[in-house]
Amino acid sequence: MIEDKNQQRTPISSLGEFGLIEHLTKHIELKNSSTLKGVGDDAAVLYFGDEQTVVSTDLLIENVHFDLAYMPLKHLGYKAVMVNLSDVYAMCATPTQIMVSIALSNRFPLESVEEFYAGVLLACEQHKVDLVGGDTTSSNKGFIISITAIGHAKKENLSYRSGAKSTDLLVVSGDLGGAYLGLQVLEREKQVFLVNPKNQPDLEAYSYLIERQLKPEARKDIPGLLKALDIKPTSMIDISDGLSSEILHLCKQSDVGCVLFESKIPIDPQVLTVCDEFNLNPTTVALSGGEDYELLFTININDHDKIKGNPHLTVIGYMTEDANQAFLQTRADQRIPLTAQGWNAFRE
Ligand code: ADP
Ligand code: MG
Repeated sequence: MIEDKNQQRTPISSLGEFGLIEHLTKHIELKNSSTLKGVGDDAAVLYFGDEQTVVSTDLLIENVHFDLAYMPLKHLGYKAVMVNLSDVYAMCATPTQIMVSIALSNRFPLESVEEFYAGVLLACEQHKVDLVGGDTTSSNKGFIISITAIGHAKKENLSYRSGAKSTDLLVVSGDLGGAYLGLQVLEREKQVFLVNPKNQPDLEAYSYLIERQLKPEARKDIPGLLKALDIKPTSMIDISDGLSSEILHLCKQSDVGCVLFESKIPIDPQVLTVCDEFNLNPTTVALSGGEDYELLFTININDHDKIKGNPHLTVIGYMTEDANQAFLQTRADQRIPLTAQGWNAFRE
């Protein structure tokens, strides 16, 4: 439905590969002094002086990671960049460059690729990141996207998954579960649309959830906020697969355990209402939903006062010395072992 909105359909073959790259990248203005050479040579050239370089990449496959039936291409471009920037912020680093590789089947006209790049470039603009290269090729079927984000940080400012200590507090930014529920709403509307294409859905009641799914924002503000509060997180990870799975990563890599309080998990009122409608448990949705792109981190307990009452941050638990023993402490005061039921690319 989305793709068909394009009135004009210029076949990519009319530009050729080099024409397409030129067309997509000719208006790019480099913003970072660390970018010495962007698009146009055999490789980009970057310079970070005495800072350490952070690199992260993600691969997105049509109908595995996204569905163009409800994902507008501009949003897809924006989100594809955001998920990569989120990984860089999760290191407490500053992203400065991305590389974008795409494979397209001949079902995509130039106008579709332009929309996708409009989203990519908007994300770059908002996060002051330079698009410095990529690769362009054809695919037999569907759309494949690989984005690599590059950033930098002073060595002492980097936050790894492995630094959490027992008695540290577990903290999360924003709220959880919205992106997963947004996906459930969009899937439902897709089924309704397939039965009755004339149906005009009223999605007002789901606006926050759909925005969380279609237009996630990487938490650029959090590393800066922590710095301003004079807090150095002891470990950090971004929430792409669901809270449970990310907590288990922190525990495993830091060799600690964790107690997570169910009653503390931040959940938006719209998530509660729509969980009711879908007959889902909001805690399960937050634990296993994924794609929220919030930051999950640990801080020394002595820093507690510095974040108390901060509207962006919630203390949801604490770390223990029992390596790999992660528990959910329920509202009924029971302790249940946390299991990773997050999104797994190799799940049957
Ligand atoms: P090569 O033959 O060395 O792979 P290309 O012709 O693929 O070179 O790329 C030429 C230039 O265009 C390079 O700087 C490359 O990084 C850039 N580039 C190629 N595809 C893209 C893309 N999809 N987005 C941004 N830059 C691209
Ligand atoms: Mg190439």
